[in-house]
Amino acid sequence: MDCKQVRELLADWIAGKRVGTEVSAHLRSCAACREEERLFRGTWKLLDHYLPIEPPADFASRVVTRARRPALWKIFTPIAAAAAAAVVAVILFVTPPRPPSPTPVTAEERELVENLELLENYEILSALELLAEESAEGHLFKEEQ
Ligand SMILES: [Zn+2]
Repeated sequence: MDCKQVRELLADWIAGKRVGTEVSAHLRSCAACREEERLFRGTWKLLDHYLPIEPPADFASRVVTRARRPALWKIFTPIAAAAAAAVVAVILFVTPPRPPSPTPVTAEERELVENLELLENYEILSALELLAEESAEGHLFKEEQ
């Protein structure tokens, strides 16, 4: 029998119930469980001094009355829901309007965007042509001459 099993049976052991000889054998050999038993017995001794509390004579009727009274959450839940709805309404009306949607794209602009890469290539080719002309006229690379 291990410590966990013994400690589960300690209350019964201390109460004098039959739990088997293995508990007493384990307690003789295990100091930790003996300490647990000592603490358990001390707790039981303190409980012997405990005086039960007698409820007042009208306790049962007060409990029934209290149980029949409407709970505060039942009163405040509709108020909280209305407040949440009011907050949402204020947020919806106070938020700034969306910016106007962009003006529609004309057919000419769309064609320009679609052929943008082609136009860039055309500009590069034009620049190369200009360079070739400049080079042919001898305006470039003057330092080498
Ligand atoms: Zn033990």
